[in-house]
Amino acid sequence: MSKIRTKKRRKQEYVCHLCGAKPGFCWTCKCGFQVCTECMKEKINVFSCNGVTWFCPECDEWHVF
Ligand SMILES: [Zn+2]
Ligand SMILES: [Zn+2]
Repeated sequence: MSKIRTKKRRKQEYVCHLCGAKPGFCWTCKCGFQVCTECMKEKINVFSCNGVTWFCPECDEWHVF
């Protein structure tokens, strides 16, 4: 029984703050910073040092992947 309820969803559009792409999904921070998976991959050693967490360059908040 999986009735999918289509509630009026707020259309969220992800825009990568680094390359400006709209890939449909971005890693987001509560401060509003968004980065696409491509940029994340590209700059993985900037955002993350262990592959488990990444930090937001805007507010220095750590996030788990
Ligand atoms: Zn990007
Ligand atoms: Zn942030």
